[in-house]
Amino acid sequence: MQRTPLIAGNWKMHTTIAEAKELAKAVAAAAQGLTDRQVMIAPPFTAIAAVAETVKGSPVLLAGQNVCWEEKGAFTGEIAPAMLLDAGCTMAIIGHSERRHIFGETDTMVNKRTEGAMKAGLTPILCIGETLAQREANQTFAVLERQTREGLAGIAIAEPTRVVVAYEPVWAIGTGKTATTEQAQEVHAFVRGVLAELYEKNVASQIRILYGGSVNSDNVDALMAQSDVDGALVGGAALKAESFTRIIRFQ
Ligand code: PEP
Repeated sequence: MQRTPLIAGNWKMHTTIAEAKELAKAVAAAAQGLTDRQVMIAPPFTAIAAVAETVKGSPVLLAGQNVCWEEKGAFTGEIAPAMLLDAGCTMAIIGHSERRHIFGETDTMVNKRTEGAMKAGLTPILCIGETLAQREANQTFAVLERQTREGLAGIAIAEPTRVVVAYEPVWAIGTGKTATTEQAQEVHAFVRGVLAELYEKNVASQIRILYGGSVNSDNVDALMAQSDVDGALVGGAALKAESFTRIIRFQ
């Protein structure tokens, strides 16, 4: 199954509007002409509209770093799917480990966000990942299976290419520690198996599974060479035009 690779940059709580525009300009230039892969960036909410103007006409896709399940109303601090669409996004990161572990988001919330995003026409990037303690306690596969099943509970998938899963071991995010290529491949194949049980094999084989966790210009090629690694979700290395350009151009 040929899956179009997706390189996604998560800018987290970084960049002013001016800095975001400058970085987005460089990403747009780097992505120009690339037809065999997709490039996505998730600026902070305040910069999305400005970045949308900057990348107009380029193949760069935009995502929100989170999204609410409600359409509008008294939900202070949240962002509605329609607001992201209005600002120029087509995707949304959901259940990032920082949301789960710093802000206490649960699998139930992640499920509601995923469902709300898809209903509105946004492509969710559903993040899953085990902590170091869970890995050391041999709970990795149980945790990932639970997060995948609960994150997608009750959700029908009509267009598998518009659902993305990101495996991000918590111990590898922002730490400089990367999963080995064998660890990444093993988990990605396992998650694809869970997706095949939840849906059909044909659906599972079309869903892209990204790896995230200290991806950089030195390790991206080896990670992308794994048969079930369909892209990367990049944090720190996405904040520098030079490193993100190299990552986009993985071989
Ligand atoms: C992330 O933000 O999802 C991430 C993987 O960060 P980093 O690349 O910095 O580990």
